[in-house]
Amino acid sequence: MTSLPFDPNDEALRCLVEALTESGQAVSIFDAEDNLRYANKTYQGMFLGSYNGPLTFTGILRHAHRNGLGVRIDDNDVEAFIARTLPRRRSVPRKSFETDLVDGRWFWIDHTVLPNGWVLSVGADITTLKNNEKSLRQAHEAALNASQTDQLTGLPNRRHILGLLDESLAANEGTGSGLCVAVIDIDHFKAINDAHGHEAGDAVLEHFARYCRERVRVQDRVGRTGGEEFLLLLPEVRVDDAVRIIDRIRDGFPAAVLEHSGLELPCTFSAGVTEALPDDDRSSILRRADRALYAAKEEGRNRTRIGSKEEH
Ligand code: GH3
Ligand code: MG
Ligand code: MG
Repeated sequence: MTSLPFDPNDEALRCLVEALTESGQAVSIFDAEDNLRYANKTYQGMFLGSYNGPLTFTGILRHAHRNGLGVRIDDNDVEAFIARTLPRRRSVPRKSFETDLVDGRWFWIDHTVLPNGWVLSVGADITTLKNNEKSLRQAHEAALNASQTDQLTGLPNRRHILGLLDESLAANEGTGSGLCVAVIDIDHFKAINDAHGHEAGDAVLEHFARYCRERVRVQDRVGRTGGEEFLLLLPEVRVDDAVRIIDRIRDGFPAAVLEHSGLELPCTFSAGVTEALPDDDRSSILRRADRALYAAKEEGRNRTRIGSKEEH
């Protein structure tokens, strides 16, 4: 298998092959019929293990798969993998791609197809790079997540939920499928803090956040816009249904707080809800919802009021 088409007396070629054989790069060359004609030690370790007989490219893939070697195949279906790979194998004279192995290593493969159909493949181990990339990506995601999340409740924070409101308004403009927005404010929250302490107040906020999230649909979003104020985005509903969704949250809320904190906290909330108009932007729709919230407070709290289109 290690015989090569070169003059065995040529020292440079001999040294080249000797060095390649020991190299950490995975080197192989296949002839036009896809018989493996040379493989260095790294390549052997990747695909062949202790096997030393003749093999074709597809034979190698099957052998590796059977023996827990070679590339990781997503659905574990080696025949489907072969069917996907073969038509592309000589489609361009030169290509590079990354691939991961069953053993968790990653390789960057450089493929060269000679005019006579022979294929040279050189793979560099990029596992460390991939792992660094992965931890950087995870750190980036964690930082992004932290910048969008309210620490106490785990809900989207003010900046994030307002960004989501902008997106929802834009989407609604595109589809016209409807969007309701509700501003929710806990009633007499200051009194809870005053009577039971700031931590009890925090527990109410945390509990409201959890309770609210559990009772809205998957496509709805809820965020904390300030102290005891929340914003609810309800796509694809009319305002009457939005009121029903909010009142469903209202129904079980006080009892649930009792269960969670062990304190009997009189706790209700008021809400102002409104439906998006075609020319609404962030401030116009929030103004309408805020006005409706103010009306709900004025009328005695613990209720939902609708910000009507006439008030716009
Ligand atoms: P209303 O029914 O009119 O909404 O009265 P309220 O007492 O709920 O409203 P007010 O605006 O007078 O008081 C809100 C209080 O929320 C005051 C502030 O100290 C408290 N607060 C703001 N952020 C937090 C927080 O993160 N934790 C706790 N425990 N309290 C907070
Ligand atoms: Mg408030
Ligand atoms: Mg309040």
